[in-house]
Amino acid sequence: MTTSTPLPDFSHGAAYTRGRFVPIDGASIPITDWGFLRSDAAYDVVTVWDGAFFRLDAHLERFAASCRRFRLDPGIDDARIAQVLAECVRLSGLRRAYVEMIVTRGQPPWGSRDPRQAVNQFHAFAVPYVWIANEEQRARGLHLHLSGVPRIPSASVDARAKNYHWADLTQGLLEALDAGYDTVALGDGTGNVVEGPGFNVFCVNATGTIVTPASGVLEGVTRRTVIEIAAQLGMAVETRPLPATELRAAREVFLSTSAGGVLPITRVDGQPVGDGRIGRVTQQLIDTYWAWHQDPRYCTPVDYDTV
Ligand code: PLP
Repeated sequence: MTTSTPLPDFSHGAAYTRGRFVPIDGASIPITDWGFLRSDAAYDVVTVWDGAFFRLDAHLERFAASCRRFRLDPGIDDARIAQVLAECVRLSGLRRAYVEMIVTRGQPPWGSRDPRQAVNQFHAFAVPYVWIANEEQRARGLHLHLSGVPRIPSASVDARAKNYHWADLTQGLLEALDAGYDTVALGDGTGNVVEGPGFNVFCVNATGTIVTPASGVLEGVTRRTVIEIAAQLGMAVETRPLPATELRAAREVFLSTSAGGVLPITRVDGQPVGDGRIGRVTQQLIDTYWAWHQDPRYCTPVDYDTV
């Protein structure tokens, strides 16, 4: 009688950790890794849309910069990272995926608390595409709350390095959800809006200029895409501090994120933005954002056949 080992089930997604590809449901990291114990990690998220990575180079570049800022080393070069990500996608078979690359601090030898002695660990995974807003929210526009919880200052944790210091964002999100809003944006503690859980914030102000915060934020790849699209469409963009008062008086407000692209906001703290409907500029940016997903300049196709 022959017994056969069941094949691993990658249908929910695939992960790479400790040098091996495993189904996402069974993927784990050691409990003593400082990535878990101290949020001591850098990460990035790239998406796959219709079988191709969108702006993979920009994500790899930002990931390398985040690692440098936190003195973390993935231990492999960009070409190998790209291979591992593609293999996670290939194994999962997903045509639309949310693909994360992570470096955790690892752990120093027992008895040592010196982070320089830790061996950093590279991990990655691919799961089905994640939307920050569901279909109904995208169709009507999200209702945003401006929280009183200030974002962790960049002087403490550099917001340009993509990180898991999310206690402030999560606290703000809980506050917003409890009050019946869809999501939240945090401020810098001096009256300016910065960013929210997983997205950058933009407005089209009362004079028609697109404004997004210049600092204290992750420099989102979608934010960069929006700025480039706006330039192509001849729309004026300013990156500078964005006062909450300017956002509240804006004609249009929208978010940018790899988890959904350009997401319209139609209410801020219960008050309609403009006429309360998705604005013309926002709609043009949404349409062009998705059109760019078919543009070979920004796409890296995944080879689903290679073993
Ligand atoms: N700001 C924060 C705090 C984020 O976590 C993210 C993405 O996860 C963003 C902004 C948007 O960045 P991107 O457009 O690269 O997804």
